[in-house]
Amino acid sequence: MSALVCRKTGRRYPVDQPIWKSDADGLLDLEFQPRFELDRIRTRLPTMWRYREALPIGRDEHIVSFGEGFTPLVPINWNGREVLLKLEYLFPSGSYKDRGASVLISRARELGVTQVVEDSSGNAGAAIAAYSARAGITCEVYVPESTSPAKLAQIAAYGATVRGVRGSREEAASAAWQAAQSLYYASHVWNPYFFHGTKTFAFEVVEQLGWRPPDVVVIPTGNGTLLYGAYLGFCELRDAGVIERLPRLIGVQAANCAPLCHAWQGGGASIAEIVATETVAEGIAIARPARAQQCLEAVRATGGWFVTVSEDEIVGALRAIHHRGIYCEPTSATALAALDKFEVSGAIVTPITGHGLKTAEKAGAAMSR
Ligand SMILES: *Cc1c(COP(=O)(O)O)cnc(C)c1O
Repeated sequence: MSALVCRKTGRRYPVDQPIWKSDADGLLDLEFQPRFELDRIRTRLPTMWRYREALPIGRDEHIVSFGEGFTPLVPINWNGREVLLKLEYLFPSGSYKDRGASVLISRARELGVTQVVEDSSGNAGAAIAAYSARAGITCEVYVPESTSPAKLAQIAAYGATVRGVRGSREEAASAAWQAAQSLYYASHVWNPYFFHGTKTFAFEVVEQLGWRPPDVVVIPTGNGTLLYGAYLGFCELRDAGVIERLPRLIGVQAANCAPLCHAWQGGGASIAEIVATETVAEGIAIARPARAQQCLEAVRATGGWFVTVSEDEIVGALRAIHHRGIYCEPTSATALAALDKFEVSGAIVTPITGHGLKTAEKAGAAMSR
């Protein structure tokens, strides 16, 4: 049977309790046995819920969904190389965070939760707010006041309470942590169910490639909710015998805020405090990622690595991808900028993580500088 397992102490907790951390304040991972019945999957609607037996929700009537997922995988020529772009900005709330929100809020509903709290630089908050609205769950989101205005407006529009926090992303997170002492924390970082949503990214890529893994996946990384989710998904497919090997995962960070890259270069044993400065890639500006150790382990296990990209490189890649007809936010362009920094062969997949309409003002300003 499944259990929630503390990463600090190994203590196991039953899954029918609405908890999001252990008694030792440790991160929880979900122990869960997925199943993949390819013949059934093929007959289902093209949504992330087609992998139903691999998603940790007990009963169908608890599923909170807008029919999301199965985003297109589109080839482009990027400076002489073919790259497959997975159009993750085409989700109901405008980013891949809907994958995590759909599973997490479904599970919250299944557990009888009526009120959740979240903290976010924008997109996770919007996703949790949207799915909470659909589920009839009351939602409160702590955000740094510097968040793009369109993201704040979107969260409020879903009916969630927006709590602006003066200060950094970390200060917003600790305000939410405080509030979560008495509420269910629908955190895209702490709550393990979120990763069981983002893992469907890997399922879709593998199915879209004819049930074969790509060779390389290049992912913008702050807290690693897509990086680690993708790793989890590829591992589940490998352990079930659907694929034989894992793709290399390459985590991309903005040079102005790159704690995982620093730790990687230092051998990955410890996560040092870094001094972060502002970056146009607001979606991955995370100075202290709570699941850093897991991200480092995931990248190492796949034979991948971390890279940084400068502000100029991000803005250059953003301009170039816009000119190809893809209107994404600057954070998404980090992965494209990174592609120019290494030679790899084989099938390369890059997610386009967030919609440009959310950051039109900030991105416009950055590009005109
Ligand atoms: C959340 C997000 C990412 C990845 O961020 P993590 O902190 O690693 O989860 C990338 N791009 C966009 C647009 C995002 O919203």
